[in-house]
Amino acid sequence: MPAPAPGEALLRVLRSGICGTDATEWRSGPHLFPVGDAPHPVTGHRGPMILGHEFVAEIVQPAAGSRFALGDLVAAGAGVWCGDCPRCREGRYNLCQRYTTLGLNVDGGMAEFVAADERMLALLPPGIPLDHAGLAQPLAVGFHAARRSGAGDDDRVVLIGAGAIGTFVLAALRALVRADVTVVDFAGSRLDRALRVGADRVVAAGDTTVAEVLEAVDPRGADVVIEASGAPGQLAAATRMVRSGGRILQVGLPSRPAEIDLAAIVLREVTIRTTNAHLFPTDVPAALDLLATSDLGAELLDSVHPLADIAEQLDRLASGRLEGKVLFDPTRP
Ligand SMILES: [Zn+2]
Ligand SMILES: [Zn+2]
Repeated sequence: MPAPAPGEALLRVLRSGICGTDATEWRSGPHLFPVGDAPHPVTGHRGPMILGHEFVAEIVQPAAGSRFALGDLVAAGAGVWCGDCPRCREGRYNLCQRYTTLGLNVDGGMAEFVAADERMLALLPPGIPLDHAGLAQPLAVGFHAARRSGAGDDDRVVLIGAGAIGTFVLAALRALVRADVTVVDFAGSRLDRALRVGADRVVAAGDTTVAEVLEAVDPRGADVVIEASGAPGQLAAATRMVRSGGRILQVGLPSRPAEIDLAAIVLREVTIRTTNAHLFPTDVPAALDLLATSDLGAELLDSVHPLADIAEQLDRLASGRLEGKVLFDPTRP
């Protein structure tokens, strides 16, 4: 049973998700997880550690002076920020110099109980199914990415990658702007889902992907290209899909350094941006809102499991055999 620090609530976890970051730690880590000879610089945590940075829970013991009541249902942003470093003062909480994430740097929500800072908890909208609310954190990451892309109403946007994160970015784009969105991935169920979630058109990846995208979107290139696959060669492909003066947003985390033709980017004044995590105060409520008012949860949820299935499901995710999101219900035997 965790002991909450001042400002923390004690939570009973109802749903907890895993993402590619967890699968990478499982397969080849520790990378972000603290270990004995490399404790976390802010928390001093030395591991072993409980994973879980995507969870919804019930408040069983609010912090002193809390805005929450016993029994309130909340979604966690999972990242805790200090509030007064230079980046926090700019409102860029996800870049806080003391940022720590539950489930990556300190014990997280893949457990029956977890203690969490109340600043990164958001009340669930009434009536939202727990299985859908459990997708709020990764969808918030999609909202942050969509905002970071700077895509506007009249922009032609190309989104590379229609896995879980790419689909969250697509859904957030649809919720935020009226841009024209073309989605690129391998032919099959991912592209079918992209069309259902609101892509204007899809292009199946192959030998002539760049030419097909340019033909479908604009021969001079797209205004914004979002690279959400993290696959080798895709950032380079993005540089050939974007127009002069356009923008590329790198969302995926490539597993090795990527080679791109800088001259072609410099001469055409292409901007490359990146995105990481989310801004809790704007992105988590936006994600909960969309999940409460759309079919997105049903579209993206693969299955719900007892905690005992965690190793099997991490293997499934790490091997790329998972198209949607897997959640765990720690109240299930
Ligand atoms: Zn994640
Ligand atoms: Zn800070």
